[in-house]
Amino acid sequence: MQHCLTCGVEVEESDSAYYPRGMLCIPCYVRKSAESVAFCSRCGTRIRSEEIKRKSSQPYCSYCAAELERKELLPRCRFCNQKIESFQERIKLADQSLSHTHCAAGKRIEVFCSFCKKRTEHFKILPGGSIICPLCYRSESQRRDFGGRSSFVAVLVRRLLAR
Ligand SMILES: [Zn+2]
Ligand SMILES: [Zn+2]
Ligand SMILES: [Zn+2]
Ligand SMILES: [Zn+2]
Repeated sequence: MQHCLTCGVEVEESDSAYYPRGMLCIPCYVRKSAESVAFCSRCGTRIRSEEIKRKSSQPYCSYCAAELERKELLPRCRFCNQKIESFQERIKLADQSLSHTHCAAGKRIEVFCSFCKKRTEHFKILPGGSIICPLCYRSESQRRDFGGRSSFVAVLVRRLLAR
C-alpha cells in the first residue's frame, strides 16, 4: 500500500513514479514543484528549491548568495561609506581605517608613509597606491640620477615625475 506523504491519498502500486516523485500523489507533486521554484532576487535566475539560499528572507541563487557574502566582508570606505572592492585602489589611514584612493584625495587625513613609516598629513599617492611623505618624496626626487641604481621607490618616483 502506497500513500501520498502530503494528503494521504492512496497511490496505485503500479505507479512506478511514486518514489521518484518523493512519495507524493500527482496533484501534490505538481503543486509542490510549482511552489519550490523561485527566482533569484538579484539576477532573476530560476532556482530549484534545494538550491535556494535565503538571505533576509529573500531567495538567491548560490552564485548571488556567495557574492553577497563576499561583499559583506569587504571593508567600507571611511569617506563615501561604500564597500571597497578588491580591484579598487585603497589607502590605509593612520587610524587603521580604509578609504578609496580617490575618496581620500584632497582630504585632510593622517596616513603612514609607506617608505619611512612616519605619520603624516601631507603626502602623495604613487601609482600602485603607495603613500609617500614630502621628505621621502624630496629625497627620492633629489636622487633622480640614482647613480645607476634603480630601487623600487626610485622607479615609482621617476614614473610620477615623468607625468
Ligand atoms: Zn497527495
Ligand atoms: Zn542570482
Ligand atoms: Zn570611497
Ligand atoms: Zn616618508
